[in-house]
Amino acid sequence: TIVHCPLVATQRRRLSWVQLAGHKGSFKAGDEGSILKKFSENEKLCFERLREDTLHSFVPSYYGMVERDGELFLKMKDLLANFDLPNVMDCKMGVRTYLEEELVRARVKPKLREDLYNKMMEVDSEAPTAEEKKQQAVTKPRYMQWRESLSSTNTLGFRIEGIKRGETCNTDFKKTQSKEDVIQVFKDFVEGKKNIINSYITRLEDIKQALKASEFFKKHEVIGSSLLFIHDHKERAEVWLIDFGKTTPLPEGEKLDHYRPWEEGNREDGYLWGLDNLQQTLSLLAGE
Ligand code: ATP
Ligand code: MG
Ligand code: MG
Repeated sequence: TIVHCPLVATQRRRLSWVQLAGHKGSFKAGDEGSILKKFSENEKLCFERLREDTLHSFVPSYYGMVERDGELFLKMKDLLANFDLPNVMDCKMGVRTYLEEELVRARVKPKLREDLYNKMMEVDSEAPTAEEKKQQAVTKPRYMQWRESLSSTNTLGFRIEGIKRGETCNTDFKKTQSKEDVIQVFKDFVEGKKNIINSYITRLEDIKQALKASEFFKKHEVIGSSLLFIHDHKERAEVWLIDFGKTTPLPEGEKLDHYRPWEEGNREDGYLWGLDNLQQTLSLLAGE
């Protein structure tokens, strides 16, 4: 499905803001250069800890909690504000997109979701099992695991969630899985421009070094977080870490290395393994 981004018009900088993932309505425009994301305690704690961490220069500046129309929001820098009609890509990192606790909850107390069953049917009417068809519902981890297995999450440790290019948004990458397909999507995204690819490669290496030095990163299971790629026709290109809604602290004294394969209980997320693969993918594209 290719849809026209609803917000492209005269006041183009302000109005060209785009949301490539998440529920419609979980974001609001803030004052000049800021946006508001629907409050979550967990994400708030992450932003507070990240302020003090080596990763802070790769995370949107956080301006605290605000209330709007009786609802709480986290106020942060709008990463698109300094670009002129940018192309934007949301790349969700890691080999797993749900928390271990969600898996446990679904086992102990399965909550059957008809909405997720319908989403599954839309993509592949053969995907639900006979029992799921009878129930007309699936659990959330089942849906998430199925999405992972279709996309490159399990095989490359990252997946493309959405892209805005020109005035068009595309979130139809659910079946983009092979390295070749991912390379092609990136190629279209950068419109073949080598300068942009090279800037992205440099920025990803800086991010990797910051991650390896980060106390925050060692001590958190980073699930469902994305790298947001942004560039415009002036060929400025940036990558930022966003979305800490499911980034969860480990018990005191425990650490992750973010490379080891995930087994239930070890809480590994495969973030660095995915980042290696992402860097390799861009290097292949740069060398073409
Ligand atoms: P989900 O968990 O489904 O991914 P979410 O509600 O947690 O969604 P985010 O992933 O944080 O929301 O953000 C959704 C989209 O909003 C991103 O893909 C990106 O397009 C945009 N976005 C988020 N944060 C920023 C930011 N600081 N600056 C500019 N754009 C942003
Ligand atoms: Mg997200
Ligand atoms: Mg999220």
